[in-house]
Amino acid sequence: MQSRFEVADVLRKAGAAIENYGLNTWQLRTLYAIKKCRTAELGGHIDACDSCGNVTISYNSCRNRHCPKCQGQNREDWIAKRETELLPVRYFHMVFTLPDSINSLAIYQPKIVYDTLFEATWETLKSFGKAKEMQMGMIAVLHTWGQQLSLHPHLHCIVPGGGVNKNGQWQNSRNDGKFLFPVKALSKVFRAKYCAKLKAKLPIQYEQIRQDLWKKPWVVFAKKPFGSPKSVVEYLGRYTHKIAISNNRIKSIDEQNVTFDYKDYRVAGVKKQMTLPHQEFIRRFSLHILPKRFVKIRHYGFLSSTWKRQKLKLLQEKLKVKVLEKVEKKPFLPKCPCCKTGNLNRIAVFDQRGPPAWYLGGSQSSSSCEN
Ligand SMILES: [Zn+2]
Ligand SMILES: [Zn+2]
Ligand SMILES: [Zn+2]
Repeated sequence: MQSRFEVADVLRKAGAAIENYGLNTWQLRTLYAIKKCRTAELGGHIDACDSCGNVTISYNSCRNRHCPKCQGQNREDWIAKRETELLPVRYFHMVFTLPDSINSLAIYQPKIVYDTLFEATWETLKSFGKAKEMQMGMIAVLHTWGQQLSLHPHLHCIVPGGGVNKNGQWQNSRNDGKFLFPVKALSKVFRAKYCAKLKAKLPIQYEQIRQDLWKKPWVVFAKKPFGSPKSVVEYLGRYTHKIAISNNRIKSIDEQNVTFDYKDYRVAGVKKQMTLPHQEFIRRFSLHILPKRFVKIRHYGFLSSTWKRQKLKLLQEKLKVKVLEKVEKKPFLPKCPCCKTGNLNRIAVFDQRGPPAWYLGGSQSSSSCEN
């Protein structure tokens, strides 16, 4: 569904001023890609309906992973792949959150701060698994935002409720499989591991925020375990390809301000609205542009790619999983938006110079739907 207001609209309103917002070149490049997404600047194609003859024009997508308009297909592909890797066991959703006191460092050293979040989280889970003599697995997705677009780095982890013992057999973390590990204990180990790593990587900066980092307990949150393995993947799919704000949360854009919806989790997730000037909105949005080639979805333990290739199949056989074969992707045949029954066939492609003259002249065909 097309949203009425888009992040790209804010960028267009702000215009060349965004060059002066103190953003780095990578952030600016990303913003320009989002701004150009599905506009004439990226070129496009012309399709004709094989039933009613209606001709439509479409502009190309930017495919940038931070673009609100370019998430859908990636998500579907990702879900399809993960579904072939499921085990018939209980899965848990855990969220590991960094404290606010890390934020100033996260702005200047995002790669180190976020890499360390992945490392400390995995090592924490791994050590709890080891105490029970089993190898754990984990899929983790980094989110860096809170509801108001401020910096709030946290890791969503999907963790099968058990692991592989030294004989390669599946073992539940507790006999009833109802429970993974106590979150209080997890959060203590998580903080200790994170701080030790940060100290080793950035000793001076660590020293400056050390007291704040240790002031409050860190938050590890365990959500209710999932009903079925399939629902895990669909659920995780919602998180993996999420970005800081979706276009449908934007409620209005005027010459100065942007207004968007957010949920206030301090008051039971009540929906509220927030209005920010363009510059502040863009600044906040840009906080969540990840460093170039930063991997935001990572697989660990028996779900890591090396382990998966060799042993996951074996484990699935032992657990008698009917392994889904990788489904061939069906070629996507868009339906005609006009008659809704005909198929669209591509009749021309064009670059940023724009559609061909015959299309603009409308001499051969009409671009408007007359049915
Ligand atoms: Zn895009
Ligand atoms: Zn999140
Ligand atoms: Zn048609």
